[in-house]
Amino acid sequence: MFCPKCGSENTDTAVHCIRCGTAMPRMEREYGLGTSVSASSPASPRVTVSNNLVWAILATLFCCLPTGIVAIVYAAQVDSKLSAGDIAGAQASSRSAATWSWVSFGIGAVFVVGYIGLVILGATIGHR
Ligand SMILES: [Zn+2]
Repeated sequence: MFCPKCGSENTDTAVHCIRCGTAMPRMEREYGLGTSVSASSPASPRVTVSNNLVWAILATLFCCLPTGIVAIVYAAQVDSKLSAGDIAGAQASSRSAATWSWVSFGIGAVFVVGYIGLVILGATIGHR
């Protein structure tokens, strides 16, 4: 398993991290994967971190904003960091991808509301 603080690899039975000394959490409690981690293969625990790639792509498609691209970049980092064993980094990238996705949706919503507002304003002025 990997240290949640510094990411260095430790044995599954380690109580403290060999590099930074952080108390090692039990996998089940830390990641909530007690049922999905097979007891027959304790040497290769599968930790899944949502990469939020779907949200990032949707944000880019429907909002057409550079912030959506940023979200996709972060989402792409999640899988590569996971495969490299950098769980903490993957989780950080996952959060960044989600944040930038919502920023994109928020800006897109502001533009839509602003456009509708201008249309209504234009119609109101036109009736005078
Ligand atoms: Zn550590």
